[in-house]
Amino acid sequence: SVIMERILRRKSLQLRNKQQDWQDSPNGQKMLEFRRSLPAYKERDSSLKVISENQVVVISGETGCGKTTQLPQFILESEIEAARGAACSIICTQPRRISAMSVSERVAAERGEQLGESVGYKVRLEGMKSRDTRLLFCTTGMLLRRLLVDRNLRGVTHVIIDEIHERGMNEDFLLIVLKDLLPRRPELKLILMSATLNAELFSSYFGGAPTIHIPGFTYPVREHFLENILETTGYGLNSYNQIDDYGQEKVWKMQKQAQAFRKRNSQIASAVEDALEYADFKGYSPRTRESLSCWNPDSIGFNLIEHVLCHIVKNERPGAVLVFMTGWDDINALKEQLRAHPLLGDPSRVVLLACHGSMASSEQRLIFDKPEEGVRKIVLATNMAETSITINDVVFVVDCGKAKETSYDALNNTPCLLPSWISKAAARQRRGRAGRVQPGECYHLYPRCVHDAFADYQMPELLRTPLQSLCLQIKSLQLGSISDFLSRALQPPEPLSVQNAVEYLKIIGALNENENLTVLGRNLSILPVEPKLGKMLILGAIFNCLDPVMTVVAGLSVRDPFLMPFDKKDLAESAKAQFSARDYSDHLALVRAYEGWKDAERQQSGYEYCWRNFLSAQTLRAIDSLKKQFFCLLKDAALVDNVENCNRWSNDEHLVRAVICSGLFPGICSVMNKEKSIALKTMEDGQVLLHSNSVNAVEPKIPYPWLVFNEKVKVNAVFLRDSTGISDSVLLLFGGNLSQGGLDGHLKMLGGYLEFFMKPTLAETYLNIKRELDELIQK
Ligand code: ADP
Ligand code: MG
Repeated sequence: SVIMERILRRKSLQLRNKQQDWQDSPNGQKMLEFRRSLPAYKERDSSLKVISENQVVVISGETGCGKTTQLPQFILESEIEAARGAACSIICTQPRRISAMSVSERVAAERGEQLGESVGYKVRLEGMKSRDTRLLFCTTGMLLRRLLVDRNLRGVTHVIIDEIHERGMNEDFLLIVLKDLLPRRPELKLILMSATLNAELFSSYFGGAPTIHIPGFTYPVREHFLENILETTGYGLNSYNQIDDYGQEKVWKMQKQAQAFRKRNSQIASAVEDALEYADFKGYSPRTRESLSCWNPDSIGFNLIEHVLCHIVKNERPGAVLVFMTGWDDINALKEQLRAHPLLGDPSRVVLLACHGSMASSEQRLIFDKPEEGVRKIVLATNMAETSITINDVVFVVDCGKAKETSYDALNNTPCLLPSWISKAAARQRRGRAGRVQPGECYHLYPRCVHDAFADYQMPELLRTPLQSLCLQIKSLQLGSISDFLSRALQPPEPLSVQNAVEYLKIIGALNENENLTVLGRNLSILPVEPKLGKMLILGAIFNCLDPVMTVVAGLSVRDPFLMPFDKKDLAESAKAQFSARDYSDHLALVRAYEGWKDAERQQSGYEYCWRNFLSAQTLRAIDSLKKQFFCLLKDAALVDNVENCNRWSNDEHLVRAVICSGLFPGICSVMNKEKSIALKTMEDGQVLLHSNSVNAVEPKIPYPWLVFNEKVKVNAVFLRDSTGISDSVLLLFGGNLSQGGLDGHLKMLGGYLEFFMKPTLAETYLNIKRELDELIQK
């Protein structure tokens, strides 16, 4: 170990020299000058001192003040200066892949290095690091994964958890784990970084840890709420002619939606009613009332956004515009709509960019670039531009007031991914984005009274999402009883949600009766996808039909590659229908579309193929690379040996259907073909409907007694987004888990479903099979 120590020392000295050389070089000087201008730099020495004297420190500061890029770097630099460089290991977690990647790239550049030298990153299935990497940016999920094999984080000296205010599920989870770990690793430092000022909450969770606030400077931002926007821009005011093409019917429909919404959120609904009364009073047309239709959280008023953007481009001073949207789908849809606009779609006047979690890195760079003189940069972004990405030249913010968030209704165990109202904290954060370089303007596309009804902070994810993956992780990390563990969270989830998750894991066979991990459960915890999708992969491997199953799983975990542009929905739907030649399956349609694309790619016509069929080439490429990664993981886990064997039955559509069922169960609904319609029913929701994007939505009849689905969305009714028809025998054999609790257990669970759906003869068939099998076993 004397030799080891000597090597470490020599390496540390090398690092110190290298750092010094860079800082003395002209480029290094220039970089240092920029860094010194950031507010975080002024707190450099004091933060380092507090960190060295305490095990846990909470740091907060305005977005853009330099927390993410500077603080981890300060620690690294000071360790290197103290000739401990080679012995330190700093991990900084990010809630999103893309920020881990872009931040590490930036920090490496600030240190005059290539990515992967002293600074690296690691995200799901991808990374850039080496043995010399001392500062690693990774997703929170990656750190949790590391804890799986290294419970004490041996060798790690600093853990920094960034964007802690977002209260993501993984971050809350990690906090419990680290809180337990700290006494075992007294020399490990934990630093929590947050953009907004609820630092007290975290500080008290760690027994009154010291907090540091980095004061930042932003220019004032003028706020416009919907009522001012309508007045200043004259949108929809008194234009009675619009009433005609609008139609009374639609107004009624809106009123119905309002009722449904009122049930969900009475406070905001009454604010909306106030706003409506105001609109009546002002004599706004129904079209404007629709803009005020805050009652329908699914609509975010594209026309209103278009109108406000036009107003800015025509009348306002130069400066980039940042539009907060809810997700990838509506960003794309709006982008299409704006492209067709004579002013906003004119590339000599406007450059339209998108900013969301799955954009390509080339596109990402454009976001930071300054456009040419006279050209207006408009960035359509998700809430990731709220805190983790800073675009410096933004002067105008358009805030639709919504964000897509998963919510979870523990009572009927239904997860929903819906655009919902943001919090006051998020609205403030969005507004703040406009004042980075000069005074800015923020257009909130909702009335002030609606804003006043927002919650102060967003609900932590742990309290609003299904906990299945998390519970599986708790078990595979051997953290003891699931409910005990979760009761130690910053804000513990409801016992009912925990119970539902455990129950689900038992149903799919990942946990046994005593809540211990089964072999399946252990394998599932290795795969970086939801348990149900992991189960599908494993069964696809076992039944040797892996490739199509991987396509389905990758598609479900990336996103739908079928594009449904706003104005060409009919064409897009019929393009999708071509891929479903009487299959009654969105999942098989995806497989067909993907395989067609692979063929087209081989003939160099992939792009044209996508264009013709309303498919996203970008998504298909993402699916492709995810599949490759799945294959490697399955190979590492010894679940597959070679490509030929595991695809022996890949052309057997019935088998693929069965494997899809095994993964998606208990996401099933019964099908009753009626005279003119199809009645669908699930156990939790009763009557459900098919989403209009589903290939099954246009079918007059569905010749399968059951549909399995991955996702349902609750709007005014429950809609199944995707579905695949399956037969009785497939449900009997692949629904649930035969090995779990023996046949009796399986029957008990499945029996409940069959009884509920009033299929007694099926239950009888099942009993017969069971009897025969029992006899066989006895023999
Ligand atoms: P915080 O984490 O406090 O929000 P960051 O450390 O992310 O702040 O950013 C600090 C500053 O560094 C920002 O004001 C931004 O201008 C600059 N910056 C960050 N990333 C990049 C990048 N990739 N290219 C250019 N400048 C960047
Ligand atoms: Mg940051």
